Amino acid sequence: MATTVKNLMASDTKVLQSYLGGKWQVGAEGGAALVNPTTGDALARASSRGLDLKSALEYSRNVGGAELRQLTFGQRAELLGKIADVLASGRDEWFEIARKNSGNTKADASIDVDGSIGTLKYFAKIAAKLGNARLLRDGAPMRLARDANFQGLHVGVPLDGVAVHINAFNFPAWGLWEKAAVSLLAGVPVLAKPATSTAWLAQEMVSAVIEAGILPPGALSILCGSPNDLLDHLQLGDVVAFTGSADTGESIRQHKGIRQQNVRVNIEADSLNAALLGPDVAPDSVAFGFFVREVVREMTIKAGQKCTAIRRVLVPAERAAAVGEAIAALLRAVVVGDPANPLVNMGPLVNMTQRKTVEEGIRKLKAQAEFAYWPEDFSPMDANLEKGAFVPPTLLKARSGSDAAIVNELEVFGPVATVVPYRDKENAFELARRGGGSLAASVFSNDTAFLAEAGVALGTTHGRLLLVDPSIGDSHTGHGIVLPSLMHGGPGRAGGGEELGGLHGLWFYHQRVAMQGSAATLASLAEQSCDPAAE
Ligand code: NAP
Repeated sequence: MATTVKNLMASDTKVLQSYLGGKWQVGAEGGAALVNPTTGDALARASSRGLDLKSALEYSRNVGGAELRQLTFGQRAELLGKIADVLASGRDEWFEIARKNSGNTKADASIDVDGSIGTLKYFAKIAAKLGNARLLRDGAPMRLARDANFQGLHVGVPLDGVAVHINAFNFPAWGLWEKAAVSLLAGVPVLAKPATSTAWLAQEMVSAVIEAGILPPGALSILCGSPNDLLDHLQLGDVVAFTGSADTGESIRQHKGIRQQNVRVNIEADSLNAALLGPDVAPDSVAFGFFVREVVREMTIKAGQKCTAIRRVLVPAERAAAVGEAIAALLRAVVVGDPANPLVNMGPLVNMTQRKTVEEGIRKLKAQAEFAYWPEDFSPMDANLEKGAFVPPTLLKARSGSDAAIVNELEVFGPVATVVPYRDKENAFELARRGGGSLAASVFSNDTAFLAEAGVALGTTHGRLLLVDPSIGDSHTGHGIVLPSLMHGGPGRAGGGEELGGLHGLWFYHQRVAMQGSAATLASLAEQSCDPAAE
């Protein structure tokens, strides 16, 4: 598969095209540069200037939506399976792009690329059993009045608009396909807007799927470059699923047209995720080892550029020194450098802007905490520190939970975490909740009753809780890994969104209608529908 199939080469710079209105299009001169974060070299350019986004949305709605909604869930599930196969066959190419444009090691790229293929396969499999249905249903018809023939049923009708998916830079593959899988399955066409800095991978994957001719016309579009006036043309029936920073999420929510028309919006934003060591866990115990390993893994995978990564390490005050030393010992062994070298465990951040932002963030954290690990003689392997976006893994330690307010406010989107001592379990839960609403937290303890208590105490402020006792220490899927079968999202600061969650995720792309009618009418609707909760 040629990497440049849909990319123009002009003046030696690759130009990413957008697939809109059923054809490849390129924006006017200018736009933003995509770089290799290891070397600083320019890789491509993306511009959306002058593209007719109103027409593109109309085409998706009128052509793509109409075509998709003629298909049953079972037929759409087959399409997802075929997309997964096409993507699996291009895996090596995707890994190469992820290395060049995102600075990914093979392990990093696997989370993004294999995660996207796995998610598509998962939905292809679980949706196959929905068969010929084209509607959703919630429960069974219920009697509403004295006349037993008068009944009610909640039915989900697929939205007749377009799903605009706006994604963050850190998961150009997974972010694209985890959203598209659910949307396409629901019968709603997708217009994907990857983050410009890493759009190359998303664009090549879409190109491969379009070329394979799997999807009906208009079902899948991609906009490379800035969003321009995209949101201005949204209307009733459209949805926006956004992943990115809290600030951008807020500006989308406040967009006048979106507000006035109540366009449905799902926000996945940033998060100050915590890992909590139970009061019972002794240093050098098995549970302690699992905890320390997980923190280090979360700090270093994708150089800490994961929305779910552990930022706050909550530990009993008397264990803070031991935890700091144990994490530092593992961080010392992490090899940072050019991800092309197989010895390297951690690559650069995505670009120099992110490096500066993270360095500034470390400075701000440092004002209220001290370094527990920070290599003064940092020198990335096979790379030039002046040109590459490298930041060393950095561990800080706060004097106390109440001394370091900034730890609960500032998301430093890199390989950075802070150890925060707590007094007792109530104080630990209170500190975890100070994140203001988080995507994920993990709690490590030998005491399953404590883990269950923590689950309830942290439940209102978290979207996902990983409760680890040593019996699952080696078998759990990880603090930061989002699973297609479970809901992804978190309250408050994390955006208040919900994605995935198996077939429950389909509801976001359907209008839930309270249908009232005779038993025969509702039986007819029930026949055309399926209940995701029952599958
Ligand atoms: P970002 O700067 O907010 O950008 C996210 C996306 O929004 C990009 O595609 C960006 O396009 C687009 N965008 C920017 N301004 C926009 C506007 N006014 N209207 C519509 N779209 C707009 O975030 P990022 O730097 O890419 O990603 C890092 C952040 O994402 C971190 O805070 C991280 O925690 C969060 N994140 C959250 C999750 C989650 O699932 N909750 C997952 C991953 C990342 P351009 O690139 O063209 O500017």
